[in-house]
Amino acid sequence: MMVYFLLVVIRIMNEELKTLIKEKLLSKNSSFVKSRISKFEKACPLQYQEIFNLTSFLSNDASIKERIHCICYDVTTIQICKSCGKKLRLFHNFNRGYQHCVNLYCIQENGLPKFENKRAKALKTINQVEANGLTRAQNIGKKAAETRKKIGKDGLTIDQINGLTISKTLKEIQENGLTRAQNRAIKSAKTMTTTICEDGLTLAKRIGIKASNTLKLVGEDGLTGYQKNGKKQSDTLRTIEENGLSYAQNFSKKTVKTKNIKNEDGLTTWQRSIKKMTETLSKVGKDGLTGYQRNGQKISEVKSKIGSDGLDSYDRGLMHGAGRCHLKLYNKSGLYYQGSLEKNFLDQVNQLGFLDQIVRSKQLFYELDGQRHLYHVDYQFNDVLFEIKSCWTYDSKGKDLYLRRKNNSKWKAAVFQGYELYIIWDKKWISFLHKNDFDNIERDLHLTKVPFTKQKLLNIFTNKVEALCDL
Ligand SMILES: [Zn+2]
Repeated sequence: MMVYFLLVVIRIMNEELKTLIKEKLLSKNSSFVKSRISKFEKACPLQYQEIFNLTSFLSNDASIKERIHCICYDVTTIQICKSCGKKLRLFHNFNRGYQHCVNLYCIQENGLPKFENKRAKALKTINQVEANGLTRAQNIGKKAAETRKKIGKDGLTIDQINGLTISKTLKEIQENGLTRAQNRAIKSAKTMTTTICEDGLTLAKRIGIKASNTLKLVGEDGLTGYQKNGKKQSDTLRTIEENGLSYAQNFSKKTVKTKNIKNEDGLTTWQRSIKKMTETLSKVGKDGLTGYQRNGQKISEVKSKIGSDGLDSYDRGLMHGAGRCHLKLYNKSGLYYQGSLEKNFLDQVNQLGFLDQIVRSKQLFYELDGQRHLYHVDYQFNDVLFEIKSCWTYDSKGKDLYLRRKNNSKWKAAVFQGYELYIIWDKKWISFLHKNDFDNIERDLHLTKVPFTKQKLLNIFTNKVEALCDL
């Protein structure tokens, strides 16, 4: 009888506290307003303490939101998953309460672990063929590409806005009345003609001499660099002339000579041509772009064209060019990789069954020191980008700040263009980058890493599929 009476009293006290909480701490639509807590603590100290007494079954670091949720929804014990026994966490939404089990190994009704079911569901969803004959994944990709090409309120596409910010920086008039681009061109021309090397020659001259010397060297095949270049171009250049030298050798000898003659202005032809070139390139044209920018755009457009072999000129260069970097084809998948880190990533994606959903060679523009460059993203899944890095290629283990700034600038461009960007470090770690990670472009982003697991990778894929299909 006594116990029953006590229970009734507690019940009444609880109801009173609930009413008070609803009145003082919840908004009209019954959601919790955190900012009202301090006022409540001062006005009703006993009731505030009671919130903690009634929820003492929770861990000490449980939030006030969780405690109030428990009181309002009559939760009196720690919530655990019935299948795996793991503790459930409070969902971020006050009214929705505790989350479904997030343990990926939790065995579900069909006897399979949660991650297997998640994977199967996501794969089924993205491979579904829709009315237009394309899969859901293909349609989502198509839509995303169209959005990026869509013209915004200001009449520009995302790509154009990106380009304009850079040209704006370059067109900015500086203290001496010239644009930033003009000053940069002048400075670089100046450096070329005024920097005196150890041997007393200018930098421009040195570079010129070095180039011509290299070309004059006779290789194993008995041909000079000039001859080799010429051979490729036409037979005429190979013709041996009266002095026993090839046409190419004579021609280049003459050119080098002419190039080094100083004129009235004290500049060699070579130096003058550099000066003229930089002046022309830094002039701003009718389209508001300098020659530099126009060339850059043209080059990147050509570079980003993907051929019948599925490669763009950047990748093709990596495979066949001078600095061959061992680009290899992964399992006939059409995906290329470079080095063991990228292979390891593809292995994991393959094991998860998402290999045919990812692509290589996504290109983004980024800005570094006022110049526009192309960033070749390693792998892409819809608007999720993956960059495979080692702490060596990031910043030479903290020794190369320029390299770090360059990497950070690339990633900044991706994040600010609305992509979800993950960096996978040395197979073992992962970083998910946000806009505020770039407040300081020299920040060591390697510090944002957390352990990387295959399950985490699966979560990235399945969460994306879920998010996209909710649309
Ligand atoms: Zn569970």
